[in-house]
Amino acid sequence: MTDPELRYQAILEKIQQRGGRLTSHRLALLRLLAVSEGHPNAARLYEELRAQFPTISRATVYKTLAMLKEAGEVLEIELHNDSHYDGNKPFAHPHLVCTRCQRILDGDELAPLQNIGQQIARQYGFLVEREQVVFYGLCPDCQKTPEA
Ligand SMILES: [Zn+2]
Ligand SMILES: [Zn+2]
Repeated sequence: MTDPELRYQAILEKIQQRGGRLTSHRLALLRLLAVSEGHPNAARLYEELRAQFPTISRATVYKTLAMLKEAGEVLEIELHNDSHYDGNKPFAHPHLVCTRCQRILDGDELAPLQNIGQQIARQYGFLVEREQVVFYGLCPDCQKTPEA
């Protein structure tokens, strides 16, 4: 994982460069995204923020996510029929999805999958604009516990 404090500062700088407003709600969202514990979806981010800021609006969460996606500061992953977000590692990377507990783990250190977009361009002349590599299976915890 990238140091969440460094990611927070980097995202903050990008928003400032774009002239985005830095409200307390937005800063709290950036804090959550800098960690992106478990690749939350927008609904979960909203719920977590609402515990702290009862007046926060869903629109703030969605608008900020859209802005960060456009700025390349958050990676959107389509899983479980929803968009999930990784603001800690905003670049494309493989994910490992547990089919039992639904956890989304990072598989970004798999060497054979690095620079795969460049390999595809070389071999097939196909220009990759967006990539999403997902492996489905059982996480270490679920392998240890028998199915309920
Ligand atoms: Zn699991
Ligand atoms: Zn990830």
